[in-house]
Amino acid sequence: MTLSLDLSSPAARPAPSPRAIPAEKPSLIGLARDDMAQLLVRAGIVPERQAKMRVQQLWHWLYVRGVSDFADMFNISKDLRAALASNFSIARPEIVEEQISNDGTRKWLFRFPARGAGRAVEIETVYIPEEGRGTLCISSQVGCTLTCSFCHTGTQKLVRNLTAEEILSQLLTARDRLGDFPDRDTPAGAIVPAEGRKVSNIVMMGMGEPLYNFEAVKTALLIASDGDGLALSKRRITLSTSGVVPEIARTGAEIGVMLAISLHAPNDDLRDLLVPINKKYPLKDLMAACRAYPGLSNAKRITFEYVMLKDVNDSLDDARALIKLLKGIPAKINLIPFNPWPGTNYQCSDWETIERFADFINNAGYASPIRTPRGRDILAACGQLKSESERMKKTERLALEAMMIAGHGE
Ligand code: SAH
Ligand code: SF4
Repeated sequence: MTLSLDLSSPAARPAPSPRAIPAEKPSLIGLARDDMAQLLVRAGIVPERQAKMRVQQLWHWLYVRGVSDFADMFNISKDLRAALASNFSIARPEIVEEQISNDGTRKWLFRFPARGAGRAVEIETVYIPEEGRGTLCISSQVGCTLTCSFCHTGTQKLVRNLTAEEILSQLLTARDRLGDFPDRDTPAGAIVPAEGRKVSNIVMMGMGEPLYNFEAVKTALLIASDGDGLALSKRRITLSTSGVVPEIARTGAEIGVMLAISLHAPNDDLRDLLVPINKKYPLKDLMAACRAYPGLSNAKRITFEYVMLKDVNDSLDDARALIKLLKGIPAKINLIPFNPWPGTNYQCSDWETIERFADFINNAGYASPIRTPRGRDILAACGQLKSESERMKKTERLALEAMMIAGHGE
């Protein structure tokens, strides 16, 4: 498979920069209903008996209509809008850069303001349009504490966890830019159809390990799937984990979204090297947690991600061991061609090897789609996302582009 690279025409175009979130005003985005109600009452701008009704109104404006300015909430009195605006923020993060790949993939670099003693952080979010659907790949942390040896994010230090607001803001801002919210003149309270949306699916597969930021991820995903707001079906939300076993049961019980496991190896010896968290939570425990994941059936399977690394994990013996390991679990296996980055010692498996591996798994009765690399010309593929602190130097970027043109990872 090849993807045409048009490096001559830089895909970056200046993005509008909406007002940055003023750090001193708390945001109303990313709060559970009760927390929002409490905040409004404590600020003394909404009486307790009205809190529930006001939250319902705000919820609609924020998550159905997607407004980012209190002034647009035209069924709320002018005085209350002014009081809300002087106490709280609902502004979007700053868009530092927006890039559009020649395959339609988009990547945004968002800047979130400093919090407390910390400094402003930048993270990336990727939108992948496909036939009949569009998937937003959301980040949960700036960097990652884990050190998977094939992952560029794993070479970056954890700067901090993202807040629920920051996780959700990635979805809201992407929908702004894609024109996925209704027009301003849509009547208040109008139901907006879920069909035909640009962002139909979300995956927690950007930077970071979502289960090491459990509470914020949970709050954000429960808001994203709330039927009176953004209303994304939990079937269309996938959380990917490297295998933080104790939080997998909680994910099932408390969030209830689809689960993806970054497996990448069929035995402990190899997985210890590729995904070092395996030393803490070995395959036996990980597989037990998967088997116990609630609601599994043929229609609701766990996705096992498997990065194809040349001469490392791509033999037919590995495929055989993989089938044995997953026996009895409703599973699909997502083969990911390795995406190279400067300094890595790995190479992507040859295309024929990937196809042979996929055929073997298919014949064993598992769906095993090969993930088409998307947005490579804008470095938007898995494992290539980065934070501002780790932005690639120009020389590194050129080296990476040369690697990709030379055909590594195709
Ligand atoms: N931290 C979470 C989610 C983010 S990574 C996790 O590990 O599951 C999303 C997927 O991309 C994971 O399966 C990850 O292992 C994979 N990945 C990371 N680096 C990659 C690379 N260079 N090439 C291909 N896939 C990669
Ligand atoms: Fe972190 Fe996931 Fe990368 Fe591993 S693969 S280093 S868990 S982001």
